[in-house]
Parts: sequence; structure tokens; C-alpha cells
Amino acid sequence: MITYDIAIIGGGPAGLTAGIYASRALMKTLLLEKIAPGGLVITTEKVENYPGFSDGISGYELMQQIEKQGTKFGLEILSEEVIMISEKDKVFNIKTTTQNYKALSVIIATGTTYRKLGVEGEDLFFGHGISNCATCDGPLYKDKEVIVVGGGDAAVEEALFLTKFVRKIYLVHRRDRLRATAILQERAKANNKIEFVWNSAVSRIYGRNKIEKVTIKNLIDNKEKDLSIDGVFVFIGFETHTEFLKDFIELDENGYVITDSEMGTSRQGIFAAGDVRSHTLRQIISACGDGARAAVSAQHFVENLRGTSYDKVVR
Ligand code: NAP
Repeated sequence: MITYDIAIIGGGPAGLTAGIYASRALMKTLLLEKIAPGGLVITTEKVENYPGFSDGISGYELMQQIEKQGTKFGLEILSEEVIMISEKDKVFNIKTTTQNYKALSVIIATGTTYRKLGVEGEDLFFGHGISNCATCDGPLYKDKEVIVVGGGDAAVEEALFLTKFVRKIYLVHRRDRLRATAILQERAKANNKIEFVWNSAVSRIYGRNKIEKVTIKNLIDNKEKDLSIDGVFVFIGFETHTEFLKDFIELDENGYVITDSEMGTSRQGIFAAGDVRSHTLRQIISACGDGARAAVSAQHFVENLRGTSYDKVVR
């Protein structure tokens, strides 16, 4: 069995950037991604705050370019789900649903997935009226009425994108003010297709073959009302999927990986990068920065193991 220098788990901006840096440093590097590389970014219609693209770039295109850059330097990418990591004699065994891989160092870049509402009707209509991706599903709601749930950047940005298609959006938020960046708030408040439903939560989604009604609960007086709605877009933050790491490295109370400034975790040789890290800025640019840092740290770790470490700054 080949022993890789570095194995990266997760193929979003952090994992792919780590892949570019590690393979460019001539580390034999494997990237394992459950479905396909790209991460959550690929669902973003237009990324406006990633430097170098003054007119913005689609999330999909950006991630395709980053992936291409990694494979150009020899990064190997496989679509497999990792279910366990263990360590024996300074070699990590990475067990996937079908194979085992060996590596001297591992970078965890598994990111996050969208948090669910946890209400009646959500599982039934997910993918058939409930969505986490305005770019993918927005065109299906031409001239219809939809709900967007959440008050952060994602909810407001996606609501603004949906205004291209829909007749009306109810933006349902649990508080009386948005968390989103000021510029997005301004744009949303100026858009007459968006009606804000403050201090409220979705409590039930129902219909026969498709969503017909959504019950909205006012969280101050607990009164409920039904809205006739065609679709529900949910952007209420994220959850980690780090159960497979629970007894292996230290996680915080929400399952995020605790790291130091060099992306090191509680176990030597295991690094973490991007959204999966505890208390980090969750942006593409910061995930890429983490990926670069984690790759250099992993590279130094491997070189130290082999006694081939050098003190040069890697550029
Ligand atoms: P977020 O910033 O964590 O916001 C989540 C929103 O959902 C908050 O408004 C929160 O309410 C609400 N929420 C959380 N749990 C809820 C629940 N159980 N029920 C109802 N509402 C709930 O998440 P995000 O908007 O997805 O953004 C995540 C990160 O990505 C952020 O760092 C954001 O800046 C970044 N991002 C950036 C851009 C951009 O720069 N263009 C675009 C998208 C995302 P409270 O406000 O009351 O907590």
C-alpha cells in the first residue's frame, strides 16, 4: 500500500488550497472528498469578495480553477467518505467506506453543511420545495412566493439573488435585526420584493404533493399564521460532521476542531483548516489561507519525521 506524505480530507477551498501547496512542495498528496470537490462555495452564484476578480466570479468556476491548479501539481483526488482515522507507529490509517489509506500527516478540511430547521414537513419536502441553494433552485420559482429563513450573509445574499425570479420573498428571521453585513442589509431593505418577518420562526411546512402552506410563529406573542408559499430557502448557519474524529482529536462543544495558529490540532501530525476549525472567520479567503498554513505545517511535520527538515521559508 502506498504511504502518502499528506492526506487531506475535504475538497472545499481549504482542502484544495492545502492540496496545491502540499503537491507543489513535492509532497505525495491525496485528497479525499465524499462527493465532488468544490465544497459549499459551488452553490454561490457570484463571489464578490474574493480578491483578484473585480467583477466577481461564480463559486463553481472559482472552485474548478482551484481544483485544476491542484491537480496540475500532482494532487490526487478521490471521491470517498472517510469514516475513521487511527494512528500506529507514526503512520495514520484513513479508513473510508471502501478502502484504507496510509499517510504521515493528515489535514482535516471537512467544512460544514447547512443547519436544518427541525420542523414538521422539512424532511418530506427537502429537495422538493425546500432548498439550501438559490442558484440551483431559484429559477424554479419564477413569479412565485417563497420564504427565506435566516438573518446572516447567506440568507440575505440568497434572498437578493432570488428577487431575480420570484414575485415575493418573506424573509423570516428569529430576531428584530439582521446579522448580515451592512451592504447586504441596505440592498435587501431597498428591494421591494422582500418583506421582513421579524421575531419569527417557521414552525410547520405542509401540503399534499407539494408545499402549499407554511406556518410562521411570532416568537414574542407565540401567535401562529399560515402563509401560502411555493418554496422555502433555509440559511440558518452550519453544522460540522466531525463525529469520526470525536475520540481522536480535541473538538469544541459544537464539534468544531480546536487548532493553534499553525493549524495544529491536539494530536501531532493532524492539522485542520477552513470552516471546520473552531472560532474561525468563515470566508473563502480565510479557508484558503488556513489551507496554505496547514499544508506548510504538515510539510514541516513530514520533513521532521524523515529528518529532511529545512528552515527555508516556503514561497
Ligand atoms: P450565520 O452568519 O451563522 O447566520 C445564521 C443566521 O441564521 C443568523 O441570522 C441566525 O440568527 C439564524 N439562525 C441560526 N440558527 C437558527 C435556527 N435554529 N432557527 C432560525 N434561525 C437561526 O450563517 P450564514 O449566513 O450562513 O454565514 C456563515 C458564514 O459565511 C458567515 O461568516 C458569513 O459571513 C459567511 N458568508 C459570507 C458571504 C459573503 O461575504 N458574501 C456570503 C455567505 C456567507 P441570529 O442572528 O439570531 O443568530
